[in-house]
Amino acid sequence: MRKKAVIITTGDEILEGLTLNTNQQYISMKLNEIGVEVIRAVSVPDDLSAISRAVKEGMEDSDFVIISGGLGPTEDDLTREAVAKALGRKLSINGEMLEEIRNRFRRRNIELSDNTRKQAMLIEGAKFLKNDVGSAPGQMIEYEGKVLFILPGPPSELKPMFENFVVPVIRSKIKSDMNVKIYRFSGIPEAVLEEAIHDIIYNNEGIKASTTLDGFIGPTIRLTYSRNLEEEIVKIEKEIVSRVGEYLYSIGDKRLDEVVIEELLKLNTTIATAESCTGGLLSAKIVDYPGVSKIFKGGVVCYSNESKINLLDVDEEVLKKYGAVSSQTVEKMAENVSRKFSADIGIGVSGIAGPTGGTEEKPVGLVYIGIHFENATRVFEKRFSGDRNSIRWRAVYSAFDELRKILLSRKKG
Ligand code: ATP
Repeated sequence: MRKKAVIITTGDEILEGLTLNTNQQYISMKLNEIGVEVIRAVSVPDDLSAISRAVKEGMEDSDFVIISGGLGPTEDDLTREAVAKALGRKLSINGEMLEEIRNRFRRRNIELSDNTRKQAMLIEGAKFLKNDVGSAPGQMIEYEGKVLFILPGPPSELKPMFENFVVPVIRSKIKSDMNVKIYRFSGIPEAVLEEAIHDIIYNNEGIKASTTLDGFIGPTIRLTYSRNLEEEIVKIEKEIVSRVGEYLYSIGDKRLDEVVIEELLKLNTTIATAESCTGGLLSAKIVDYPGVSKIFKGGVVCYSNESKINLLDVDEEVLKKYGAVSSQTVEKMAENVSRKFSADIGIGVSGIAGPTGGTEEKPVGLVYIGIHFENATRVFEKRFSGDRNSIRWRAVYSAFDELRKILLSRKKG
C-alpha cells in the first residue's frame, strides 16, 4: 500500500489569488516522485482554527502532513500555534533555535526584534529544521506513527528544506515496500508514446503506471511498484528502450536541460546562442545551471533584421530572399554565433511565436533551430502549437533535445 500525504498551504494571499500556489505543485510532484500518494491538497487562510482543523483532518487521513507558510514573525503567522493546538501540545522558546536566528541577524547586522523571537517557538516534541536561506526554521513532529512537517512559505526556502529534511525522512519510512521509476521523454507526443508501449506498462500486477506531461519538455512515464518486482521492471525498461529509446532522455529526476548541460560540462564543449523568437529564454535556461560559465560563452538576442546583420553578419541578401524565419537565416545565425564567441557549438533559433505574423506559407508556430557543431550545421524545422509562451518554450526545449541527439550520435560514433 502506498503511503498517503496531505498538503496544507497557508496564507490569505493564496486564497485571494495574489500568490500562485507553486509550493503545492512542487510538494505534490516531489511526493509522487518518491512514491507517496497525495490524497488531498488544501489551502487555508491565516486563521488559527482553519489551520488547526486542516491539520487535525490531515493527521486523521494520512501518514504525512506537509504544511507551508505562516512561520514569519508577524501577527498573521499562526502555523506554529495552530499545529500545537491541533495536537494538544505546548509551544515554548527553544534556545538552539533562538541562537540560530540571533546569529543570522548578527551576520546581517540587524537587531533581533521581540516579534522575531516568536520564530524560535518550538512545538513540544518537535525537531527543528534548519533554514539556511531565511530566518524561519521549520519543524518536524512525529505523532501517533505519523509525521508532520512545517516549512516556510517562500519557495526558495521551502525547496531546499524539503529536499534536505522531508525527502530523507519519508524515504526511510517507506523504504521497505514501494519504489518509483520515472522515464522522461522529449520529441514525442504523450498519446503516441502511450500507444507505443501501452501493452507493456499497464496490467502488470503490483505495478502502477501513469503518464504525465512535464511542462513543455515532453511526456513522462512513472512506474510505481513494490520492490520485490524489480526484475519485472528491468524487463519492462528493456522493452521501453527498444521501442521508444530515441525519445528517452533520462531515467530518474534529471530534466532535459540538465542532461544536456551536464554532457557539455563533461565533454568540456562550449556553446553560444543566437536567439530571435525565444528572446533570451534559451540562454536564461542554460544559466539556470550552476557552474555553467565553463561552457557557456554567451548569447545574442537578435530580434530585428538589423541586429541579425550587424551583430551576427547574416547576409542582407539571405534575409531578403528567404526571410528572418528560414532555414538559411538560422543556419547563418548558428554558424556565425559560434565563430563570434569562439564556441564549439552555436545555436540559432528563429520562428513565428504569434499570435500575429503568420502566413499560409509560414504559419504561427513555425520555428527553425540551427545547430553548428564540428564544421557542420544542421537545421531543424518545427511546427509547434499553442500560444506565444508555449511556442517559445517548446522551441527552447526542442533546441536542447536536438543538441542532445547530436551529442548522443557522436558518442555512438
Ligand atoms: P516569512 O518568514 O517570509 O513571513 P512564512 O513562512 O511566514 O515566511 P508566508 O508569510 O506564508 O511564509 O509567505 C511568505 C511568502 O512566500 C509569500 O509572500 C509568497 O511570496 C511565498 N509563498 C507563500 N506560500 C506560498 C505558496 N504556497 N506557493 C508559492 N509561494 C508561496
